Amino acid sequence: MFQALLITQPDTGYRCELARLEDKQLPALGDVTVRVACSTLNYKDGLAITGRSPVVRSFPMVPGIDFAGSVVQSDHPRWKAGDRVLLNGYGVGETHWGGLAQMARVKGDWLVPLPDTLSEREAMAIGTAGYTAMLCVQALQRHWAEAGVLPGSGEVLVTGASGGVGSVAVSLLAGLGHTVVASTGRPEEAPYLTALGAASVIDRQTLSAPGKPLQRERWLGVVDAVGSHTLANACASTRYGGAVAACGLAQGMDLPASVAPFILRGVTLYGIDSVMAPMPRRLSAWETLARTLDRRRLASMTREIGLADAMAVAGEILAGKVRGRVVVDVNR
Ligand code: NDP
Repeated sequence: MFQALLITQPDTGYRCELARLEDKQLPALGDVTVRVACSTLNYKDGLAITGRSPVVRSFPMVPGIDFAGSVVQSDHPRWKAGDRVLLNGYGVGETHWGGLAQMARVKGDWLVPLPDTLSEREAMAIGTAGYTAMLCVQALQRHWAEAGVLPGSGEVLVTGASGGVGSVAVSLLAGLGHTVVASTGRPEEAPYLTALGAASVIDRQTLSAPGKPLQRERWLGVVDAVGSHTLANACASTRYGGAVAACGLAQGMDLPASVAPFILRGVTLYGIDSVMAPMPRRLSAWETLARTLDRRRLASMTREIGLADAMAVAGEILAGKVRGRVVVDVNR
């Protein structure tokens, strides 16, 4: 038997509860069984647990888009019992039972080896949000390398900065020597963002309303977790030849923008997807996170909860009230 969050769709609507399940209930589709140590709460988990958006595609479903743990049993050539592994995405927690459980059965092809220098807890403090932040930063780095842009030669904007993606992006970019401007709707988090390495903090309202198609050139690059007018304004104020990495939709899924920044300033908009990202990109992101992310800063952005607490915190993350990252100790 193991404990898990279980989402069902009874006649009365949509329900998520703590359940005791049997190992034999684990999905047949999967060739590796993992004893989960930690999972996390990402924005998408908030949507799944509350049913706010149709993230969950089949029922019953164990939510949790990521986890870290160790292999118990494997029929996959790459994994054996005892291997430490982590997983992000691939529809886990949406179409395939996920990580907010003490056990998981998944395809071995989806698993990433847990870097030696990371504990399960640290890996999930990073989680899908942090791994996505790394994918954004790496997209910008590739762009800058080609353009010959040096760290410190201009400002880099991070939107949704107090959230999970934003907090890790601020820390990573500052660690690389960039001048990071953190955009937040929570001015009280300015000391937190400065401690993560932000050079300055701006009010997100300066970006969230409809704006002109071209604005004063300011950003060398942008990591955007917010979408909508914020992303449009970020593109409109990116410097000639600069780049924007878009990964989120916390403000909205729309993009009310013009082509002006792209055709008049050569701005590049990179779309970042973590769910189906190719394995070489994942391995590179996790290896770089393990090597470069400041552990003290990571600890400062992380809060830990137990499995049963995840349902309450799901509402908080959707309300934009969670700061940084939430690790779920599934055995607590
Ligand atoms: P969080 O909830 O931790 O952070 C989102 C942040 O966005 C909030 O903390 C808040 O920051 C800001 N925000 C919230 N509501 C609004 C609003 N109405 N207008 C402007 N800003 C707002 O979520 P995550 O960091 O985990 O994820 C961020 C986004 O990235 C989500 O949309 C998520 O779905 C997406 N995502 C995408 C992935 C991909 O593969 N493309 C993978 C992971 C996440 P502040 O208070 O500082 O303003």
